[in-house]
Amino acid sequence: MRRDYEYIVLGLGGWGSAAAYWLSRRAGADVLGLEQYELGHVRGESQDHSRIIRLSYHTPEYVELAKHAYRAWADIERDAGQQLVLRTGGLDFAPRESAIPLASYSGSMDAAGVPYEHLDAAEIRRRWPVIKATDDIHGLFQPESGIAMAARGNAAHLRMAREHGATLLDGTPVEAIHPRDGEIDVAAGGVMYRCRRLIIAAGAWTNGALTHLGMRLPLRVTKEQVTYFATPHAAEFEPGRFPVWIWMDDPCFYGFPVFGEPGPKAGQDAGGLETDPVTRTFEPDRAALGRTIAFLEQYIPRALGPTIYTKTCLYTLTPDRDFVLDRLPAHPEITVGVGGGHGYKFASLMGQILSELAIDGRTERNIEPFRIDRAILQLENPPVNYMV
Ligand SMILES: Cc1cc2nc3c(=O)[nH]c(=O)nc-3n(C[C@H](O)[C@H](O)[C@H](O)COP(=O)(O)OP(=O)(O)OC[C@H]3O[C@@H](n4cnc5c(N)ncnc54)[C@H](O)[C@@H]3O)c2cc1C
Repeated sequence: MRRDYEYIVLGLGGWGSAAAYWLSRRAGADVLGLEQYELGHVRGESQDHSRIIRLSYHTPEYVELAKHAYRAWADIERDAGQQLVLRTGGLDFAPRESAIPLASYSGSMDAAGVPYEHLDAAEIRRRWPVIKATDDIHGLFQPESGIAMAARGNAAHLRMAREHGATLLDGTPVEAIHPRDGEIDVAAGGVMYRCRRLIIAAGAWTNGALTHLGMRLPLRVTKEQVTYFATPHAAEFEPGRFPVWIWMDDPCFYGFPVFGEPGPKAGQDAGGLETDPVTRTFEPDRAALGRTIAFLEQYIPRALGPTIYTKTCLYTLTPDRDFVLDRLPAHPEITVGVGGGHGYKFASLMGQILSELAIDGRTERNIEPFRIDRAILQLENPPVNYMV
């Protein structure tokens, strides 16, 4: 049994499966991926039919990164021979004075040269009669937005990583990490592995992994949820007729056309209660579901119908909601990635960047905003702002 690898990836969720894939494209059989649960499990952040992918973002840096995210998805789509992104168009809409100003989104897209349309309420109602936009509402429409097919994307990254030679082990929790003399001992599932470079893509368990290195980040793990509704008007919510959407106010809601289940999906962003990834339950939060239903009753009532199911899922929130994507200052041979509750759209790109940091020690992409030593991550109780 082989125990010595050049690269180990800790965690094979959305970002880790992508990291294993991108590493394996360059390093083949020198890649080992370790996952504590079964591959494709539902205890983390990445396993559902759909996640929103969009160029529309609040800073030009994210918009630029999102352009590269589409390219990374296109690469794995070609390699895997499978569609993983579905463009539906995306509507960001809100009252004129909203908690999340649309101006930062339009300004960022202007700066990054991304085309979009600014729509008033009448135009929103004309294009999507199912959206009951009152006259104080306006929106931004970006045609490239759509669905990143999360479960399918994860499976594609894992399958192709194996095809490129990687070894992926499930049911193998990492229990200890010891960097020494330029190498790293990684104890997992009762076996001691060794590598030269380690990528930590542990989502809600990140601090559990960093503890072995004497580190802790001010992360907050919440139990979030999305609900599929069996609307009797499903045809009006098919992709092509209905976009992905985000309500840019506080509370912030978002939703999808019909995809993967026989009805549209909606949920509240960052509306969940704090939890622990190990002791969490899978019980839906009735109050959060009530808030989502009340929003839909007001603005998209024809989306409602009997609940097909509510799916719970974790967010790993940084205080500023920016990612962590960096090599550890004290151990540059170890790289960490954390998605901040909006990272799936970037999963393949993040895997590519993590692999570049591990192999080359650098990346062409601008990851400066995601430094692990940024000031807010040094605070024990930092101020938080999730409305971005
Ligand atoms: C309800 C919901 C809706 C979302 N909507 C969107 C959206 O529309 N668009 C978007 O871009 N993003 C969205 N996100 C966020 C996005 O899904 C996450 O940012 C992304 O999936 C994070 O992936 P990850 O790999 O960091 O975490 P995970 O997928 O949770 O992977 C971490 C993995 O590490 C494993 N692990 C941890 N510790 C160990 C250990 N010690 N040993 C071995 N394995 C270990 C875990 O078991 C897990 O499999 C949403 C998230 C949720 C919950």
